[in-house]
Amino acid sequence: MSHIVVLGGGIGGVSCAYELKKTVRKQDRVTLVSNKPFFQFTPSNPWVAVKWRGKDDITIGLAPVLSRHGVGFSAAGAKRVYPLENRVELGDGSFDGVLCLEAAFHFGEKGRRAFLEESWRVLRPGGRLVLVDFAWRDGSPERIEALDRERHVRDTWRFSEFEPLERYRATARALGFREAAFRDWTRPVTDTFQHVATALARAGSVAPLRWLLCQLRPGLGRVRPEEWDFLVELMRAHDRVRRASRYVAFRFEKPA
Ligand SMILES: Cc1cc2nc3c(=O)[nH]c(=O)nc-3n(C[C@H](O)[C@H](O)[C@H](O)COP(=O)(O)OP(=O)(O)OC[C@H]3O[C@@H](n4cnc5c(N)ncnc54)[C@H](O)[C@@H]3O)c2cc1C
Repeated sequence: MSHIVVLGGGIGGVSCAYELKKTVRKQDRVTLVSNKPFFQFTPSNPWVAVKWRGKDDITIGLAPVLSRHGVGFSAAGAKRVYPLENRVELGDGSFDGVLCLEAAFHFGEKGRRAFLEESWRVLRPGGRLVLVDFAWRDGSPERIEALDRERHVRDTWRFSEFEPLERYRATARALGFREAAFRDWTRPVTDTFQHVATALARAGSVAPLRWLLCQLRPGLGRVRPEEWDFLVELMRAHDRVRRASRYVAFRFEKPA
């Protein structure tokens, strides 16, 4: 998938975004970034100046029209472009909210810190960061090495370690965030997943139960007995990691 970002919501930017959307593949994304939420038909500016037209006659909100064409939109404005990194830095204080759902555990320790810093930068005063993630219960996330020696859990979900819960809090606090809400969803999310997955894996590794499972879900017949045994081992590793971690949600607020 490619993600093409068009800068500027004027005549050039909007027509470019429409044309690109028609040209690129279905899986590609096009996003237009402007520094204001509306399009303004520049050639009609003089009519506003002489009061023959009002502002509403020559402007139109970009978000609804672009979304009808399947083009993403941000009015955050581009602060800087980094061509070699293929990256655009958006304007400061330009977002009402940032939502990060089950993604930050992939970022690594430095990446999570950078993510919190960047969230602070782009949020307006009063803006919110909602962060849902796996977190390590104590301050020693390196213990995962012993709990997941074969890297079953880390290679399955592609991460190196979870952020210690208290370090998440401390970093956010040091940046200036206020912790407005906290939820521990370990029981309904990870515990439930663990119990169901472990029971299934164990059932599949016992021949009569495996036969029964295959009657219920014929597709499971393609899973070989040794693969069921591996699943049991995989679930044991998950269980060890689960006991040392939590599934949590924070709502951090940037004070107004
Ligand atoms: C009075 C008048 C009459 C004209 N009549 C005609 C005509 O009859 N026929 C014709 O062909 N042309 C006409 N033109 C010229 C035409 O309007 C311009 O060529 C055209 O508007 C240029 O479009 P653009 O998208 O390149 O730039 P702009 O319309 O200037 O758009 C630039 C966009 O970028 C946005 N932007 C700025 N900074 C940032 C940032 N940091 N991050 C993100 N976005 C940013 C701006 O908000 C703006 O939406 C006329 C111009 C004027 C002033």
